[in-house]
Amino acid sequence: MIAVLKPQTSDKQIENLSSWLKAQGLDVHISKGSTHTVIGLVGDTSKIDEDLLIGLDMVETVKRISEPFKSANRKFHPDDSVISVGNTSVGGKDFTLIAGPCSVENEEQVMEIATAVKAAGATMLRGGAFKPRTSPYDFQGLKADGIEMLIKAKKVTGLPIVTEIMNANHLSLFDEVDVIQVGARNMQNFELLKELGRTNKPILLKRGLANTLKELLMSAEYIMAGGNENIILCERGIRTFETYTRNTLDVSAIPMLRELSHLPVIVDPSHATGNAKLVKPMAMAAVAAGAHGLMIEVHNDPAHALCDGPQSLTPAAFAEVAMSVRKILAAMEE
Ligand code: PEP
Ligand code: MN
Repeated sequence: MIAVLKPQTSDKQIENLSSWLKAQGLDVHISKGSTHTVIGLVGDTSKIDEDLLIGLDMVETVKRISEPFKSANRKFHPDDSVISVGNTSVGGKDFTLIAGPCSVENEEQVMEIATAVKAAGATMLRGGAFKPRTSPYDFQGLKADGIEMLIKAKKVTGLPIVTEIMNANHLSLFDEVDVIQVGARNMQNFELLKELGRTNKPILLKRGLANTLKELLMSAEYIMAGGNENIILCERGIRTFETYTRNTLDVSAIPMLRELSHLPVIVDPSHATGNAKLVKPMAMAAVAAGAHGLMIEVHNDPAHALCDGPQSLTPAAFAEVAMSVRKILAAMEE
């Protein structure tokens, strides 16, 4: 349920109303927009007397939210959420460019790539340390050592770092990680989501291989229900019958998610296509469709990458993509 307050409502009135609603056992979310304040209520709202609420002087309208996702719902929070990450932020007017290797392989590799992507305009460095591979015989990542290498690259370049978690027991290794990624395969690992809800770390939540947008938003809701509202949604392609591409990028997910939710939406054209040649056109399409950012795999030697070489861009190709993206962003501002 949401209550939209009249523009002149004072902070004291908002505080009194919020305490009264909390006393009814509800979670209260206050979102102050440019003109109106919206009070979002989560929990058993059947106890609330709607007529009483609407009868209050300060209340303009009261609406029940029919969607099962509440905290992630744009109706709860009409303005875009902006998530602070180190020296940068994700969402709103800021454009986020995350780049780096699929997997951290060694210190020289990650340092070389980090320096190159920063020079090309990346705002964050990615790199997998715990890798969810289809085969148990494939490279599984450098684990804690990989995270240490990312932290060194962050110290040298100043870029905040993004890396994937696969097990909540590893959380203590992520203290200096700026954004924790939940990969497609773990989007519905509800115990992991609940654990991440108890942290205050920004979470990059990737859409599952065969999940609907509603399911993605419900997974975000799991994290938010625990108190962590710092969530970045990521469209990374879904399974379809097409085999020429690794997945099918759902470009329509971008405006749809932006309409349904206030959370930032970024796009991963690398895993969406599985093909380096397709990364640039899909990156441009994503930006034109309203993505708040991109996450792109970059390798200094794609032919010898331990993971996802065929979809990895060289630093030079990444610089070209970054340039084209800037042109599209500038054109969209006009
Ligand atoms: C990744 O980003 O490293 C990754 C494994 O992607 P996804 O979870 O989207 O497959
Ligand atoms: Mn990868």
